[in-house]
Amino acid sequence: MLHVTKSFLPELTSYTKYLERIWNTSHLTNDGPLLLELEAKLAEFLEVENFFFVSNGTIALQLAIKSLGLKGEIITTPFSYCATSNSIIWENCEPIFADISTESLTVESESIKSKITKDTQAILTTHVYGNAGDLECQVNLAQEFGIPLIFDGAHAFGVKYKGRSIFNYGDISTCSFHATKIFHTVEGGAVITNNTHLASKVRELRSFGHKGDEYFSAGINGKNSEFHAAMGLANLEHFESIKNHRKWASGYYDQHLSHSIEKVKFNSAIERNYSYYPILFSNENHLLKVVENLNNHQIFPRRYFYPSLNTLKFIDYQPCPISEDIASRILCLPLSAEINEIELSKVCQIINQPI
Ligand SMILES: *Cc1c(COP(=O)(O)O)cnc(C)c1O
Repeated sequence: MLHVTKSFLPELTSYTKYLERIWNTSHLTNDGPLLLELEAKLAEFLEVENFFFVSNGTIALQLAIKSLGLKGEIITTPFSYCATSNSIIWENCEPIFADISTESLTVESESIKSKITKDTQAILTTHVYGNAGDLECQVNLAQEFGIPLIFDGAHAFGVKYKGRSIFNYGDISTCSFHATKIFHTVEGGAVITNNTHLASKVRELRSFGHKGDEYFSAGINGKNSEFHAAMGLANLEHFESIKNHRKWASGYYDQHLSHSIEKVKFNSAIERNYSYYPILFSNENHLLKVVENLNNHQIFPRRYFYPSLNTLKFIDYQPCPISEDIASRILCLPLSAEINEIELSKVCQIINQPI
């Protein structure tokens, strides 16, 4: 059986090495030594100033919105995981969908600009598959209109844009370390910012909004535990080799998939992390037939992202024709740190068959 991904697990002994430290101190959560070590290592690895390890990537988005005190309209992307728009709704804000670019599949500056009104509070878009469009233009646009820019970087761990960590763009970035992501802590996420004021707000809100007997605001419990930090520390040692294996597997798909299958174009300014391998079919019927053939061979790719978020039934419909079209015919192929040539060749062979 071959799934769209397989969670990486380090050698058990490298995890238990960290667990021994937990047993030695009985410090299980609340800014424990392993969490502080992971935060310091990741801040350095990602070249960012403030890095907060939190319980998951969705809470990370909510903390980002809350720390900016946003109320009202947030311009966002319809082509992302539902956590992006759900976090906006959960924070009592309203998602305003700007359509995506056919190249990067992200929301770029022209599209954002067309949606800005006097009611716009912020922009929150996703670095889809670790890809990006005209990031500098987006940063400039946000500055010109004086509105904060948040990036959902759940796919973008280790990605660089023009040689710098992509998490340096925008006012706040978030990441997810869920078990299915390229770097994981089983469950987990991060809020990342180079803004000192926002950083202290996030620190406060992550921990119920109080410090000792001083109560500042209605915060939440967004903390993460020593056990999750341990998994992060153990997995971080393998990140380069995981990325390289995925790069090799992506290269295999590049070479062996039929030329009639459309590939997603990555921005040449991006240094990729190879977290996903999306392909585009000419239409949804073609996609459904190929998925059925793959499933018959116990291969389970994922329609990611599908459906376009602007079409969800609990959201007021706003047309985004490009996102709706792309979502109907995009498929993420199996990709993991363990996938081998036999598996890759089987996937290509089935996809390349004439329908
Ligand atoms: C995975 C993901 C999230 C949510 O992260 P969790 O850690 O699962 O809460 C948010 N946005 C995107 C784009 C994701 O892929």
